[in-house]
Amino acid sequence: MKFTKITITASVFLILIMGVVYFAKNARTTEKAPVIQVLSAHEANSTPREASKSPSPSREATSSFVPTLASGYCLNVPVLMYHHIEPSTQAKAEGHSSLNVDSGIFASQMAYLSSKGYNTITADDLVNALKRQGTIPSKSIVLTFDDGYSDFYTYAFPVIKQYNFKANLMIPTGLIQNNGYMTWGQLQEISSSGSKIYNHTWSHASLGGATIDKITYEISTANKQISQYLGYTPDIFTYPYGSEGSTVINYLVSQGFRGAFSEIPGTYQCDSYLMTLHRTRIGNSQLSAYGI
Ligand SMILES: [Zn+2]
Repeated sequence: MKFTKITITASVFLILIMGVVYFAKNARTTEKAPVIQVLSAHEANSTPREASKSPSPSREATSSFVPTLASGYCLNVPVLMYHHIEPSTQAKAEGHSSLNVDSGIFASQMAYLSSKGYNTITADDLVNALKRQGTIPSKSIVLTFDDGYSDFYTYAFPVIKQYNFKANLMIPTGLIQNNGYMTWGQLQEISSSGSKIYNHTWSHASLGGATIDKITYEISTANKQISQYLGYTPDIFTYPYGSEGSTVINYLVSQGFRGAFSEIPGTYQCDSYLMTLHRTRIGNSQLSAYGI
């Protein structure tokens, strides 16, 4: 009887201990599991590459977005987002119609901005105004061209120069000099004409879920190359595919980046979301159709 009692007491005690151990283990697993999963998923994707190698070109994709409420100090400044600018027939033949604005329509869009008295400003002008809570000329607008395609130089740049406009080129530096992309010489010419060249990673990598190693490599290599070829270090970034996340945003801030462009639509730019500024994707309609 006494033996049974001891056995029962010991069993109950053992079950209690097992319960505590199981609970503690489970609690730890619950806390750590998402981190472990995220790390392993990303590690599988990270392949160290040399800066001298050319990454393979990839196409822009439409991103999903999270609407951001306007708060803090805001300015109503449309940031127009372009990719390819070339004749529609050529874009169709090359298979990128969805990312193209016909060069004739683009010319009429720029003529419209000029006739309406718009002031084209650089991304730096916009970020400076937001950070200083300062003013900018009325009817300010930011023209952004992503990915460094050679058709910008052929079809858009002459129009930009004709109106004495400022363009902002978001460049994946590792793709420059590849077939279909601009050369560093062309970028130097554009940069010295009043337009600005900015960091859009090295290989046009999606960084929203990337490891810190990949984020560091992609962004620091692009800044080194822009500094090497154009003589300045940009501190404004544009997320490829509009793919952002807390890791890349924290990295950018830690490296002194002052602003970044997302693909979240909207014309209000606020100092509460300097690292996810909004843009308006432009297609083959007149700009009045986009509220410009
Ligand atoms: Zn891009």
